[in-house]
Amino acid sequence: MPSWPDVHSLPLWPVHFKPLPDELLSSLIVRLAYGHGVKVRTFSRLVFPSQEIWNRDIDRNAPPALLSMIAANTGASYEALYKSSLKAYEGVLYKQYQLSSILPWVLPLQVYEWKRNGFAQHYCPSCLANDGIPYYRRSWRIAYCTWCPQHACMLHNSCFSCGSCVAFHRCDLGNFDISDVSSIHRCWHCGFDYRDTPRIAADFYSPDILASFRTLLVALEASQSADTSDSIVQFHNVLHHLCLLLGMKNKQVAIADFACAALSIDQISKPTRRQPIESRSLDERHHLVQLAIWYLLQLDERLTAAWVNRSITYNRLLKDLRDLPDWYGDVVSKFTHWRDRLKPPPFECY
Ligand SMILES: [Zn+2]
Ligand SMILES: [Zn+2]
Repeated sequence: MPSWPDVHSLPLWPVHFKPLPDELLSSLIVRLAYGHGVKVRTFSRLVFPSQEIWNRDIDRNAPPALLSMIAANTGASYEALYKSSLKAYEGVLYKQYQLSSILPWVLPLQVYEWKRNGFAQHYCPSCLANDGIPYYRRSWRIAYCTWCPQHACMLHNSCFSCGSCVAFHRCDLGNFDISDVSSIHRCWHCGFDYRDTPRIAADFYSPDILASFRTLLVALEASQSADTSDSIVQFHNVLHHLCLLLGMKNKQVAIADFACAALSIDQISKPTRRQPIESRSLDERHHLVQLAIWYLLQLDERLTAAWVNRSITYNRLLKDLRDLPDWYGDVVSKFTHWRDRLKPPPFECY
Protein backbone atom coordinates (compact mmCIF):
# COMPACT_ATOMS: atom_id res chain seq x y z
CA MET A 1 0.00 0.00 0.00
CA PRO A 2 1.67 3.28 -1.03
CA SER A 3 1.54 6.37 1.11
CA TRP A 4 -1.70 8.22 0.49
CA PRO A 5 -0.33 11.77 0.02
CA ASP A 6 1.30 10.65 -3.23
CA VAL A 7 -1.74 8.98 -4.64
CA HIS A 8 -2.30 11.64 -7.31
CA SER A 9 1.08 11.09 -8.79
CA LEU A 10 0.49 7.39 -9.36
CA PRO A 11 -0.33 6.34 -12.91
CA LEU A 12 -3.10 4.16 -11.54
CA TRP A 13 -4.47 3.75 -8.05
CA PRO A 14 -3.27 0.57 -6.31
CA VAL A 15 -6.79 -0.74 -6.67
CA HIS A 16 -8.33 0.40 -9.94
CA PHE A 17 -11.76 -1.13 -10.23
CA LYS A 18 -13.68 -0.18 -13.33
CA PRO A 19 -17.45 0.20 -13.61
CA LEU A 20 -19.25 -3.14 -13.77
CA PRO A 21 -22.17 -3.53 -16.21
CA ASP A 22 -24.68 -0.72 -15.55
CA GLU A 23 -22.94 0.14 -12.28
CA LEU A 24 -23.87 3.38 -10.55
CA LEU A 25 -21.05 5.88 -10.02
CA SER A 26 -21.49 6.07 -6.25
CA SER A 27 -21.33 2.29 -6.05
CA LEU A 28 -17.98 2.33 -7.86
CA ILE A 29 -16.58 5.05 -5.57
CA VAL A 30 -17.56 3.08 -2.45
CA ARG A 31 -16.06 -0.10 -3.89
CA LEU A 32 -12.83 1.77 -4.63
CA ALA A 33 -12.65 3.03 -1.06
CA TYR A 34 -13.20 -0.41 0.43
CA GLY A 35 -10.82 -1.93 -2.10
CA HIS A 36 -8.10 0.34 -0.75
CA GLY A 37 -9.02 -0.61 2.80
CA VAL A 38 -10.14 2.83 3.90
CA LYS A 39 -13.44 4.40 4.88
CA VAL A 40 -15.53 6.13 2.27
CA ARG A 41 -15.14 9.49 4.00
CA THR A 42 -11.35 9.11 4.22
CA PHE A 43 -11.04 7.99 0.62
CA SER A 44 -13.19 10.89 -0.57
CA ARG A 45 -11.12 13.48 1.30
CA LEU A 46 -7.80 12.08 0.15
CA VAL A 47 -8.66 11.56 -3.45
CA PHE A 48 -11.17 14.34 -4.11
CA PRO A 49 -10.14 17.11 -1.69
CA SER A 50 -11.66 19.83 -3.85
CA GLN A 51 -14.95 18.04 -4.46
CA GLU A 52 -17.85 17.56 -2.09
CA ILE A 53 -18.92 14.03 -2.92
CA TRP A 54 -21.65 12.99 -0.54
CA ASN A 55 -23.42 16.24 0.29
CA ARG A 56 -25.06 16.04 -3.11
CA ASP A 57 -26.58 13.46 -5.40
CA ILE A 58 -23.25 12.55 -6.92
CA ASP A 59 -24.83 10.12 -9.37
CA ARG A 60 -26.89 12.93 -10.81
CA ASN A 61 -24.48 15.86 -10.44
CA ALA A 62 -21.06 14.33 -10.97
CA PRO A 63 -18.62 17.05 -12.11
CA PRO A 64 -16.68 16.17 -15.30
CA ALA A 65 -13.43 16.77 -13.40
CA LEU A 66 -14.35 14.03 -10.96
CA LEU A 67 -15.14 11.59 -13.75
CA SER A 68 -11.87 12.46 -15.47
CA MET A 69 -9.92 11.87 -12.28
CA ILE A 70 -11.45 8.47 -11.65
CA ALA A 71 -10.95 7.52 -15.28
CA ALA A 72 -7.29 8.55 -15.20
CA ASN A 73 -6.60 6.66 -11.98
CA THR A 74 -8.48 3.49 -12.78
CA GLY A 75 -7.75 3.11 -16.47
CA ALA A 76 -11.43 3.18 -17.30
CA SER A 77 -12.56 5.38 -20.17
CA TYR A 78 -14.22 8.72 -19.48
CA GLU A 79 -17.24 7.44 -21.43
CA ALA A 80 -17.57 4.45 -19.11
CA LEU A 81 -17.51 6.77 -16.08
CA TYR A 82 -19.98 9.16 -17.67
CA LYS A 83 -22.31 6.26 -18.42
CA SER A 84 -22.31 5.33 -14.75
CA SER A 85 -23.96 8.68 -13.95
CA LEU A 86 -27.64 9.55 -14.25
CA LYS A 87 -26.68 12.41 -16.54
CA ALA A 88 -26.09 9.83 -19.25
CA TYR A 89 -29.85 9.28 -19.44
CA GLU A 90 -30.05 12.59 -21.27
CA GLY A 91 -31.55 11.84 -24.66
CA VAL A 92 -33.15 8.68 -23.30
CA LEU A 93 -35.36 9.45 -20.31
CA TYR A 94 -35.38 13.23 -20.66
CA LYS A 95 -34.43 15.65 -23.38
CA GLN A 96 -32.10 17.93 -21.49
CA TYR A 97 -30.19 17.54 -18.26
CA GLN A 98 -31.03 20.02 -15.49
CA LEU A 99 -28.72 20.65 -12.57
CA SER A 100 -31.32 21.32 -9.92
CA SER A 101 -34.94 20.78 -10.98
CA ILE A 102 -36.68 17.41 -11.08
CA LEU A 103 -35.33 15.13 -13.76
CA PRO A 104 -38.12 13.04 -15.28
CA TRP A 105 -37.98 9.43 -14.08
CA VAL A 106 -34.99 10.01 -11.75
CA LEU A 107 -35.96 9.30 -8.15
CA PRO A 108 -34.96 12.13 -5.79
CA LEU A 109 -32.55 11.21 -2.98
CA GLN A 110 -33.55 14.18 -0.80
CA VAL A 111 -29.99 14.75 0.32
CA TYR A 112 -29.34 16.33 3.71
CA GLU A 113 -25.63 16.45 4.40
CA TRP A 114 -24.63 12.75 4.41
CA LYS A 115 -28.16 11.59 4.99
CA ARG A 116 -30.75 10.48 2.45
CA ASN A 117 -34.35 11.19 3.30
CA GLY A 118 -35.81 9.79 0.10
CA PHE A 119 -36.29 6.11 -0.69
CA ALA A 120 -34.74 6.59 -4.09
CA GLN A 121 -32.16 3.83 -4.13
CA HIS A 122 -33.46 0.39 -5.01
CA TYR A 123 -31.81 -3.00 -5.01
CA CYS A 124 -32.59 -6.52 -6.13
CA PRO A 125 -31.66 -9.02 -3.38
CA SER A 126 -31.12 -11.76 -5.95
CA CYS A 127 -28.80 -9.63 -8.08
CA LEU A 128 -26.75 -8.71 -5.01
CA ALA A 129 -26.68 -12.35 -3.91
CA ASN A 130 -25.61 -13.65 -7.31
CA ASP A 131 -23.03 -10.96 -8.02
CA GLY A 132 -19.45 -12.12 -7.72
CA ILE A 133 -18.86 -8.55 -6.59
CA PRO A 134 -22.07 -7.01 -5.24
CA TYR A 135 -22.81 -3.59 -6.71
CA TYR A 136 -25.69 -1.18 -7.40
CA ARG A 137 -27.13 -0.69 -10.85
CA ARG A 138 -27.79 2.71 -12.37
CA SER A 139 -31.29 1.65 -13.41
CA TRP A 140 -32.15 1.08 -9.72
CA ARG A 141 -32.57 4.86 -9.43
CA ILE A 142 -35.26 5.06 -12.13
CA ALA A 143 -38.95 5.37 -11.23
CA TYR A 144 -40.31 2.74 -13.58
CA CYS A 145 -37.68 0.15 -12.66
CA THR A 146 -39.83 -1.49 -10.01
CA TRP A 147 -38.82 -5.10 -10.56
CA CYS A 148 -35.87 -7.13 -11.80
CA PRO A 149 -36.37 -8.66 -15.25
CA GLN A 150 -33.60 -11.15 -14.58
CA HIS A 151 -35.09 -12.57 -11.39
CA ALA A 152 -38.77 -11.61 -11.84
CA CYS A 153 -38.90 -10.22 -8.30
CA MET A 154 -39.75 -6.79 -6.98
CA LEU A 155 -36.94 -4.39 -6.17
CA HIS A 156 -36.69 -2.99 -2.63
CA ASN A 157 -35.96 0.55 -1.53
CA SER A 158 -35.65 0.07 2.22
CA CYS A 159 -34.12 -2.30 4.73
CA PHE A 160 -36.31 -5.33 5.40
CA SER A 161 -35.15 -5.39 9.03
CA CYS A 162 -35.27 -1.75 10.16
CA GLY A 163 -37.02 0.12 7.35
CA SER A 164 -34.18 2.58 6.73
CA CYS A 165 -33.56 3.89 3.25
CA VAL A 166 -30.64 2.48 1.28
CA ALA A 167 -27.50 4.61 1.73
CA PHE A 168 -24.57 2.31 1.06
CA HIS A 169 -22.04 5.17 1.28
CA ARG A 170 -22.78 5.31 5.02
CA CYS A 171 -22.02 1.67 5.87
CA ASP A 172 -18.76 2.49 7.64
CA LEU A 173 -19.87 5.56 9.63
CA GLY A 174 -19.15 5.07 13.33
CA ASN A 175 -17.13 1.91 12.80
CA PHE A 176 -13.40 1.78 13.32
CA ASP A 177 -12.59 -1.62 11.89
CA ILE A 178 -12.81 -1.41 8.12
CA SER A 179 -12.89 -5.19 7.83
CA ASP A 180 -16.34 -5.11 9.43
CA VAL A 181 -17.81 -2.54 7.11
CA SER A 182 -16.55 -3.35 3.67
CA SER A 183 -19.95 -4.71 2.71
CA ILE A 184 -21.82 -2.57 0.28
CA HIS A 185 -24.79 -4.92 0.50
CA ARG A 186 -25.49 -4.28 4.19
CA CYS A 187 -27.88 -1.78 5.76
CA TRP A 188 -25.98 1.26 7.00
CA HIS A 189 -28.26 1.50 10.03
CA CYS A 190 -28.69 -2.04 11.37
CA GLY A 191 -26.23 -4.11 9.36
CA PHE A 192 -28.89 -6.35 7.82
CA ASP A 193 -27.64 -8.14 4.71
CA TYR A 194 -29.82 -7.02 1.79
CA ARG A 195 -29.13 -10.36 0.10
CA ASP A 196 -31.29 -11.99 2.78
CA THR A 197 -34.31 -9.84 1.96
CA PRO A 198 -37.31 -12.10 1.25
CA ARG A 199 -38.07 -12.17 -2.45
CA ILE A 200 -41.43 -10.86 -3.56
CA ALA A 201 -42.51 -12.20 -6.94
CA ALA A 202 -43.42 -9.38 -9.31
CA ASP A 203 -47.12 -9.44 -10.14
CA PHE A 204 -48.55 -8.37 -13.50
CA TYR A 205 -52.04 -7.65 -14.74
CA SER A 206 -51.64 -9.56 -18.00
CA PRO A 207 -49.00 -11.52 -19.92
CA ASP A 208 -48.69 -8.85 -22.62
CA ILE A 209 -48.13 -6.14 -20.00
CA LEU A 210 -45.40 -8.30 -18.47
CA ALA A 211 -43.74 -8.80 -21.86
CA SER A 212 -43.77 -5.08 -22.70
CA PHE A 213 -42.63 -4.09 -19.22
CA ARG A 214 -39.71 -6.48 -19.54
CA THR A 215 -38.79 -5.07 -22.95
CA LEU A 216 -38.86 -1.57 -21.47
CA LEU A 217 -36.45 -2.47 -18.66
CA VAL A 218 -34.06 -4.41 -20.87
CA ALA A 219 -34.00 -1.60 -23.43
CA LEU A 220 -33.21 0.96 -20.73
CA GLU A 221 -30.22 -0.99 -19.53
CA ALA A 222 -28.93 -1.29 -23.09
CA SER A 223 -29.59 2.34 -24.01
CA GLN A 224 -26.80 4.70 -24.98
CA SER A 225 -27.56 8.40 -24.90
CA ALA A 226 -25.16 9.05 -27.76
CA ASP A 227 -26.85 6.76 -30.23
CA THR A 228 -30.49 7.37 -29.47
CA SER A 229 -32.97 9.48 -31.35
CA ASP A 230 -35.77 11.79 -30.23
CA SER A 231 -38.23 8.93 -30.53
CA ILE A 232 -36.98 7.32 -27.30
CA VAL A 233 -37.33 10.54 -25.34
CA GLN A 234 -40.75 11.10 -26.87
CA PHE A 235 -41.85 7.63 -25.86
CA HIS A 236 -40.73 8.26 -22.30
CA ASN A 237 -42.50 11.63 -22.33
CA VAL A 238 -45.79 9.96 -23.25
CA LEU A 239 -45.29 7.17 -20.71
CA HIS A 240 -44.51 9.76 -18.04
CA HIS A 241 -47.59 11.81 -18.96
CA LEU A 242 -49.88 8.79 -18.89
CA CYS A 243 -48.55 7.84 -15.45
CA LEU A 244 -49.32 11.35 -14.22
CA LEU A 245 -52.88 11.20 -15.60
CA LEU A 246 -53.42 7.71 -14.24
CA GLY A 247 -52.48 8.87 -10.76
CA MET A 248 -54.68 11.96 -10.75
CA LYS A 249 -57.64 12.43 -8.47
CA ASN A 250 -59.86 14.41 -10.79
CA LYS A 251 -63.37 13.83 -12.08
CA GLN A 252 -62.27 14.64 -15.61
CA VAL A 253 -59.40 12.19 -15.46
CA ALA A 254 -60.69 8.70 -14.85
CA ILE A 255 -58.58 6.69 -17.26
CA ALA A 256 -57.16 4.69 -14.36
CA ASP A 257 -60.63 3.62 -13.27
CA PHE A 258 -61.45 2.77 -16.86
CA ALA A 259 -58.34 0.60 -17.25
CA CYS A 260 -58.86 -1.10 -13.88
CA ALA A 261 -62.41 -1.98 -14.81
CA ALA A 262 -61.23 -3.43 -18.12
CA LEU A 263 -58.54 -5.45 -16.36
CA SER A 264 -60.86 -6.42 -13.47
CA ILE A 265 -58.41 -5.16 -10.84
CA ASP A 266 -58.73 -2.83 -7.89
CA GLN A 267 -57.73 0.79 -8.17
CA ILE A 268 -55.19 2.22 -5.74
CA SER A 269 -55.95 5.26 -3.64
CA LYS A 270 -55.09 8.51 -5.35
CA PRO A 271 -53.42 11.52 -3.78
CA THR A 272 -55.42 14.71 -3.34
CA ARG A 273 -52.67 16.77 -4.90
CA ARG A 274 -50.82 16.48 -8.17
CA GLN A 275 -48.05 13.99 -7.52
CA PRO A 276 -45.45 13.02 -10.12
CA ILE A 277 -44.52 9.40 -10.42
CA GLU A 278 -41.06 10.10 -9.01
CA SER A 279 -42.61 10.77 -5.60
CA ARG A 280 -44.98 7.79 -5.58
CA SER A 281 -44.34 4.61 -3.61
CA LEU A 282 -42.77 1.57 -5.22
CA ASP A 283 -46.08 -0.34 -5.36
CA GLU A 284 -47.92 2.66 -6.76
CA ARG A 285 -45.34 3.09 -9.50
CA HIS A 286 -45.55 -0.58 -10.38
CA HIS A 287 -49.33 -0.22 -10.70
CA LEU A 288 -49.31 3.02 -12.69
CA VAL A 289 -46.67 1.90 -15.17
CA GLN A 290 -48.64 -1.25 -15.88
CA LEU A 291 -51.80 0.73 -16.58
CA ALA A 292 -49.85 3.07 -18.86
CA ILE A 293 -48.44 0.09 -20.74
CA TRP A 294 -51.96 -1.32 -21.07
CA TYR A 295 -53.01 1.85 -22.91
CA LEU A 296 -49.86 1.96 -25.02
CA LEU A 297 -50.35 -1.62 -26.20
CA GLN A 298 -53.48 -0.56 -28.10
CA LEU A 299 -53.36 3.18 -27.79
CA ASP A 300 -55.91 4.13 -30.41
CA GLU A 301 -58.59 1.67 -29.40
CA ARG A 302 -58.19 1.97 -25.64
CA LEU A 303 -57.76 5.72 -25.43
CA THR A 304 -60.69 6.26 -27.77
CA ALA A 305 -62.82 3.94 -25.67
CA ALA A 306 -61.84 5.85 -22.52
CA TRP A 307 -62.63 9.16 -24.21
CA VAL A 308 -66.02 7.93 -25.43
CA ASN A 309 -66.65 6.78 -21.86
CA ARG A 310 -65.90 10.38 -20.71
CA SER A 311 -62.91 9.21 -18.71
CA ILE A 312 -60.54 11.73 -20.26
CA THR A 313 -60.60 15.01 -22.18
CA TYR A 314 -58.61 16.21 -25.14
CA ASN A 315 -56.98 19.01 -23.14
CA ARG A 316 -55.81 16.71 -20.36
CA LEU A 317 -54.15 14.36 -22.80
CA LEU A 318 -52.02 17.21 -24.13
CA LYS A 319 -51.60 19.52 -21.13
CA ASP A 320 -47.92 20.14 -20.29
CA LEU A 321 -46.80 17.41 -22.66
CA ARG A 322 -43.81 18.44 -24.73
CA ASP A 323 -42.11 16.80 -27.69
CA LEU A 324 -45.23 15.08 -28.89
CA PRO A 325 -44.62 12.02 -31.10
CA ASP A 326 -46.83 11.70 -34.18
CA TRP A 327 -48.19 8.32 -33.10
CA TYR A 328 -49.62 9.93 -29.96
CA GLY A 329 -50.67 13.23 -31.52
CA ASP A 330 -52.56 11.46 -34.31
CA VAL A 331 -54.66 9.52 -31.79
CA VAL A 332 -55.37 12.45 -29.48
CA SER A 333 -56.22 14.82 -32.34
CA LYS A 334 -59.38 12.79 -32.93
CA PHE A 335 -60.72 13.92 -29.57
CA THR A 336 -60.89 17.63 -30.41
CA HIS A 337 -64.68 17.71 -30.78
CA TRP A 338 -66.50 16.39 -27.76
CA ARG A 339 -69.71 15.91 -29.74
CA ASP A 340 -68.02 13.06 -31.56
CA ARG A 341 -68.45 11.13 -28.35
CA LEU A 342 -72.12 10.83 -29.20
CA LYS A 343 -71.30 8.85 -32.29
CA PRO A 344 -71.05 5.09 -31.83
CA PRO A 345 -67.42 3.97 -31.49
CA PRO A 346 -65.94 2.15 -34.48
CA PHE A 347 -65.20 -0.86 -32.29
CA GLU A 348 -66.35 -2.46 -29.12
CA CYS A 349 -65.66 -0.51 -25.92
CA TYR A 350 -63.79 -2.30 -23.17
ZN1 LIG B 1 -32.17 -9.22 -9.91
ZN1 LIG C 1 -31.57 -1.91 8.54
